[in-house]
Amino acid sequence: MLDTLKRPLRDLRVSVTDRCNFRCIYCMPREVFGPDFAFLPHEQILTFEEIARLTRIFVSLGVDKIRLTGGEPLVRRDLHRLVGMLAPLEGLHDLALTTNGSLLPVHAAKLAAAGLKRVTVSLDALDDPTFMAMNDSGVPVARVLQGIEAAKAAGMGPIKVNAVIKRGVNEHAVLDLARHFRGTGYVIRFIEFMDVGNSNGWRMDDVVTAGEIVRRIHAEWPLEAVPPARPGEVASRYRYLDGQGEIGVIASVTIPFCQACNRARLSADGKLFTCLFATEGHDLRARMRAGSSDEEITAFIRQVWEGRGDHYSEVRSSHTAGRRKRKKIEMSYIGG
Ligand code: SAM
Ligand code: SF4
Ligand code: SF4
Repeated sequence: MLDTLKRPLRDLRVSVTDRCNFRCIYCMPREVFGPDFAFLPHEQILTFEEIARLTRIFVSLGVDKIRLTGGEPLVRRDLHRLVGMLAPLEGLHDLALTTNGSLLPVHAAKLAAAGLKRVTVSLDALDDPTFMAMNDSGVPVARVLQGIEAAKAAGMGPIKVNAVIKRGVNEHAVLDLARHFRGTGYVIRFIEFMDVGNSNGWRMDDVVTAGEIVRRIHAEWPLEAVPPARPGEVASRYRYLDGQGEIGVIASVTIPFCQACNRARLSADGKLFTCLFATEGHDLRARMRAGSSDEEITAFIRQVWEGRGDHYSEVRSSHTAGRRKRKKIEMSYIGG
């Protein structure tokens, strides 16, 4: 199954909740996601059974990699139950979770026992003043480091750590994080601050480019580029010449990777999005709850994917420069 730009569907990101226990300034700024914010009501959220059913259909259409995300996926009760339903699916080669790590000390063992083999933990700084200013919810760095250790102790790996770098806020964290994770077996990946959603006040001036990040680290500990592990991989990889492991950079803004984008996203309320920057999703929940058969849902997803022509990152400037600002989907809803 190929879209109009000849891209297959391989990778599905499933958002299990739009809620989060953090208020990262670049994702869910407190001014917008405050006490009055209308999160999705319970009955609109897909049940685990519904997620598992859709997942089976996606796998039958070629998806072999699934990432559970959110919001914060670990605020969804009993997430290990969903992991237990998805992990055994035949044809699914990789099931992973992206989390802010704060609840991993409580949940890592249960998730691993249910079959989760891989986690990616987000951590934007190693000093409390910066990290707490970024997560805006009082959670210290030590809590996330404990979460990473808990995942490792539960047998998960290789564990990746993601950091979003915002100009003037946590630039110094680039070298701190590189130093901390060098030689540990954990791979740190730096993400360019993106213009997802409409809440985070994005400006190009706030982006610390992947090129700049690599130059800064290379000046301290020389690096060389490593070829991608699989097609469509979003991170560019580099390894330390002194053998102390590797880093990644995700240059979503400065080096668009739309040409190889084989990813779809399922929101917590069951809408299928074919691009992180889409303005509208395709309602799979309504179809399921109206009684559509697996064959009908399969045919619908096929029709959506075969009609897909998204390549937002390649044409970003024509959207951000102009007066016509589009209404985009928030990262906390669609899961990154
Ligand atoms: N709550 C989980 C977490 O933080 O890992 C999962 C969901 S979060 C939306 C997924 C990833 O998106 C995180 O690594 C986060 O840092 C990243 N992210 C959120 N907003 C972003 C933005 N504006 N630009 C770049 N990355 C962003
Ligand atoms: Fe929550 Fe993750 Fe967004 Fe931070 S990046 S507010 S942890 S969903
Ligand atoms: Fe894929 Fe859309 Fe991102 Fe391009 S902008 S890489 S099409 S999600």
